[in-house]
Amino acid sequence: MLRILNKIRQTGLITEDLPRDVVLEQVGAQLRAGIARQFQGSLAIRQVDAGSCNACELEIHALNNGYYDIERYGVHFVASPRHADVLLVTGPVSVHMETALLRTYEATPAPRLVIAAGDCAACGGEFGCSYASRGAVSNVIPVDAVIPGCPPTPLALMQGLLQVLEET
Ligand code: SF4
Repeated sequence: MLRILNKIRQTGLITEDLPRDVVLEQVGAQLRAGIARQFQGSLAIRQVDAGSCNACELEIHALNNGYYDIERYGVHFVASPRHADVLLVTGPVSVHMETALLRTYEATPAPRLVIAAGDCAACGGEFGCSYASRGAVSNVIPVDAVIPGCPPTPLALMQGLLQVLEET
């Protein structure tokens, strides 16, 4: 045990310093201020994959990595729509997910915000409407805002969220 502790002490810190991202810091600070003003400092998001190709989810997951670390700005992803202020929906709405999306929407306490993230959620994108797809999220539930992109980057998601806060 002592040998391991000694080795850790001798090796020191070997990770690289994060480069400073000025835009991210600015958007984050504005986001934190908006959430403090409108949501008592804590905004809860329930993410719903209504039929996406999962690339949108990868970008959303990145919001929680060590680089973006969106929780430091007061944004939390929650497991239940009953605890959510915002529904963040991706993908065209597949026919198989239509009922689940409707039930999730009904389970989210009002006033609730619905954000369609990604081109598929905005307009159906690559998949459009078909026998298997209802297309845009707004074809199934009311949508308050759209974040375009295929997929939207983590920074674009933060900027979209900020815009929603400023407009509501
Ligand atoms: S917007 Fe692009 S990345 Fe997102 S679900 Fe559609 S095809 Fe995939």
